[in-house]
Amino acid sequence: MNIRAAIEELLTAGYGNKAIARQVHVRHQRVAEIRAELGIPNVVRPTTATYSEDAFWRRTQPVGDHLTWTGHFNSTGVPCLRTTDGMHTAYRIAFRIRWGREPVGTVRPGCDMERCVHPRHVEDAQMRRQYAAIFGEVAA
Ligand SMILES: [Zn+2]
Repeated sequence: MNIRAAIEELLTAGYGNKAIARQVHVRHQRVAEIRAELGIPNVVRPTTATYSEDAFWRRTQPVGDHLTWTGHFNSTGVPCLRTTDGMHTAYRIAFRIRWGREPVGTVRPGCDMERCVHPRHVEDAQMRRQYAAIFGEVAA
């Protein structure tokens, strides 16, 4: 089987450009070109978390309906989790747990408890704008 046919077969089977490139030993740009020619949509996978959700939950403690952070705080008082690829704010991790997507802009607690990290209580900039549009409040 020639390389082109192998690439086409793997594309049809649903593999990603980089996975195919590794397997067939071509540049992933070449795979992308063939994908475009064939009109096969890109494989989109959700971003892989480099921390475990367990690590988040182990550093939280319920306070009434809220969740307080028992882990590390950075110099500006933001709850943080250090991982192999750097620091993540607990707010952003909480947001991803609740919504399964990357937050837009800054994530902050939207409830009345300071530094609350409850996944249901954190909001990103996009949510604050939407609330402001619905309720007519000025986005903070
Ligand atoms: Zn809260």
